[in-house]
Amino acid sequence: MGSSLNAFRSFTLLVIEMRCAKCGNPASKYNKTGIPVCSRHVKTKISPPKCPNCGLGMAVREGKFGKFWGCPAFPMCDGLQKI
Ligand SMILES: [Zn+2]
Ligand SMILES: [Zn+2]
Repeated sequence: MGSSLNAFRSFTLLVIEMRCAKCGNPASKYNKTGIPVCSRHVKTKISPPKCPNCGLGMAVREGKFGKFWGCPAFPMCDGLQKI
C-alpha cells in the first residue's frame, strides 16, 4: 500500500511544477496541442482571425506598440487587427 501512496505523491508534485506556457503561472490543464496552460489560458483560441482586406489567416507580429495580428501578405496587404 505504501508504494502506491508514494506514486500518488510524486504525481502531485509533477502537477504543481507544471507552468503555463503563456503566463508562467502554475498550470493545471493542457491545451489541444498538449502544452500546459493555466485555467485562464486553456480556453484561448489559437485559430487566427482572417485578414479584413484579403481573407488570409493572420499571423502574430510584434511592433513598437506590442503584439498585433498582421496580414501574412504584408507589405502587399496592410491588414491589421488588435489581439
Ligand atoms: Zn496562463
Ligand atoms: Zn491581407
